[in-house]
Amino acid sequence: MNTRLLREDQVDQAAAILRAGGLVGIPTETVYGLGANGLDGEAVSRIFQAKGRPQDNPLILHIPEASWLERYCQEVPPQAWALAEAFWPGPLTMILRHKPLVPRAVTAGLDTVGMRCPGHPVCRAILAAADVPVAAPSGNTSGRPSPTTARSMLEDMAGKIDAIVDGGSCSVGVESTIVDLTCTPPRLLRPGGVTLEQLRAVLGEVAVDPAVTRLMGAGEQPRAPGMKYRHYAPKAPVTVVTGEPEAAARYIAGAAAPGDGVICFDEFAPLFSGHITQLLGSAGDKGAQARHVFEALRAFDHTGVEAIWAQCPDSAGLGLAIANRLGKAAGFHIIHLEEGTP
Ligand code: AMP
Ligand code: MG
Repeated sequence: MNTRLLREDQVDQAAAILRAGGLVGIPTETVYGLGANGLDGEAVSRIFQAKGRPQDNPLILHIPEASWLERYCQEVPPQAWALAEAFWPGPLTMILRHKPLVPRAVTAGLDTVGMRCPGHPVCRAILAAADVPVAAPSGNTSGRPSPTTARSMLEDMAGKIDAIVDGGSCSVGVESTIVDLTCTPPRLLRPGGVTLEQLRAVLGEVAVDPAVTRLMGAGEQPRAPGMKYRHYAPKAPVTVVTGEPEAAARYIAGAAAPGDGVICFDEFAPLFSGHITQLLGSAGDKGAQARHVFEALRAFDHTGVEAIWAQCPDSAGLGLAIANRLGKAAGFHIIHLEEGTP
């Protein structure tokens, strides 16, 4: 199959492919998604083949406006409308109980479905033109870092899908925040562009699923099947070092072997002149760090590095999402420096 690269003004062609049961790479503000008509179970099942994704890992249903929640969800609690009012269109996915018309391929057999109304103008135009909900996970091969450019998505999906629409670099850079509204209190399943602090400002108490900050132990049942899978991993093993940025940079400079790769905050690049380095963004700019984290992880696959060391922000605000992606890329192999480490 020849994968066509469409321009952002070729929205009608993308919509026609979706309506005909094809697969299209769609730009969103979070990461590129691999979309199919969310009401067409056969089309959706082809997403799993293209990605090599385990069948029990559910997808998110993308809708053009919040009013569509009632078409696909059994009960839409007041909390969902309050979140939609505050954060949609935007990088937030809500878990709600679904109606019977949502195909099993989308939900992996759960009685719930993830719903999101994305903010990227090209994505919104595709959803409006297709006039169907679009089921999509991230547009990477299963297990790899998510793509935040059309070129990265093409790297994984060339020959496997019908088209990719190039909508530029993603402005958020990490996947949507996922909050489960079917439990009390609501539970954060994945941190993302909408922060935990922002969720709490609207919802009050919000629990944080343990899988957000650590590896699930053997025998532990994750809240959603997808949470148990290895994620975002480049080919070389990753070690994350947390703590005060300068101390972490010095630690890595001392610990990294000559051929190792380093992901560091911009200001510390001079410490790593002998290494292949990817810049995460300035230590104080979590927006930049979120935009760069996946491309930084991917870049090492084009080099021969055998190990990767990564600096990591604190977990306030967007930092929780960045730390979660780095932690997962590292299999939660994390060195926590004590405060005051020289
Ligand atoms: P991806 O964006 O590639 O991570 O794929 C969609 C994400 O949404 C996965 O992490 C899924 O586990 C999650 N997800 C989708 N539907 C549900 C659901 N009903 N309950 C919990 N998580 C879900
Ligand atoms: Mg994914």
